[in-house]
Amino acid sequence: MRIRVNPNLCQGHNRCFSLAPELFEVDEFGLATALNDGRVPAGMEEKAQLCIDNCPEFAISEIED
Ligand code: SF4
Repeated sequence: MRIRVNPNLCQGHNRCFSLAPELFEVDEFGLATALNDGRVPAGMEEKAQLCIDNCPEFAISEIED
């Protein structure tokens, strides 16, 4: 599974980072980027999906690997 944060949609709520600091990093403005080029480590898929579902801006999406 691979995910991406759309930088044009992310508003820096930090919710994804709070839910899964293993999957995201945030800059000084709280804007998120997916770690590891978006590749979700094995066993973390459910957490990644939780972040996708909980982003208030719909900024996180699954992309083709
Ligand atoms: S939850 Fe969504 S809007 Fe908030 S920091 Fe993460 S990607 Fe950006």
